[in-house]
Amino acid sequence: MSQPSNILDSFRLNGRRALITGSSGGIGFALARALAQAGASVILNGRNPQKLESAVSTLRDEGLNAMSCAFDVTDANAVKLAVDSLEADGHEVHILVNNAGIQIRNPINEFAEQDWQALMRTNLDSVFYVGKAVAQKMIERRSGKIINICSVQSELGRPSIAPYAASKGAVKMLTKGMAIDLGPHGINVNGLGPGYFKTELTEKLVADPAFTQWLTSRTPSRRWGEVHELGGAVVFLASDASQFVNGHILYVDGGVTATL
Ligand code: NAP
Repeated sequence: MSQPSNILDSFRLNGRRALITGSSGGIGFALARALAQAGASVILNGRNPQKLESAVSTLRDEGLNAMSCAFDVTDANAVKLAVDSLEADGHEVHILVNNAGIQIRNPINEFAEQDWQALMRTNLDSVFYVGKAVAQKMIERRSGKIINICSVQSELGRPSIAPYAASKGAVKMLTKGMAIDLGPHGINVNGLGPGYFKTELTEKLVADPAFTQWLTSRTPSRRWGEVHELGGAVVFLASDASQFVNGHILYVDGGVTATL
């Protein structure tokens, strides 16, 4: 890896293409916008084509380079077909962000089996399906960046979210395992662990003043995160600036994981 003449140049993503799963809204959309602002062309993904087209239009209206690719990340065949057809059409994926995820809250003794399965399929199986399909192409090119969206729940529990924490703890360890297997092929695999950010996934918590009071009092930064605050971290992990960072989980959480 040659030394850049200016360190800021190593953060630029011009000429790179990024696929961000679950990016029609929320954190995924903010990550896609940040990657596109850094120069990447971005491929937005989700299940709802209308939502996806509206997200693509928003980025294009901002002068950013974006297209969509609708598929369900829990469907291994659909994932493989989508990745194969992107590559066949010349849309090679240089950066993959495995972001799609859901939350279902209920005490473990009342948690429905089908909810457990839906959660594991969306949060964990998808990282394996999309990660494997894209990594196979990256291996041929001997380069690539994979960023798996973890969570502070990769480290910490909370009442009524044991299955979600189990899924995010598993994504953390899958990230490390992927880094070990793919590093020798020139691929970096890292995790990005958001703290509490205001999105559809957390809207019930945002609407609950007691939760916000509890959260802000135990967060060193004393507030919720705003999704654009994840942009710097994803650009870092997607760029040459992090070329020797591999198997690392970068928490962006206002300090939540630093304290009891
Ligand atoms: P969100 O606002 O609910 O957005 C989820 C996105 O994923 C949507 O674009 C949704 O679009 C897509 N999606 C859901 N299931 C999918 C599937 N099966 N196939 C393809 N796309 C799918 O959630 P978020 O808060 O942005 O969360 C994004 C990620 O960050 C998740 O992995 C979550 O666990 C993690 N995270 C969030 C927070 C937080 O505070 N919000 C904190 C830590 C970690 P469609 O419904 O149209 O498919």
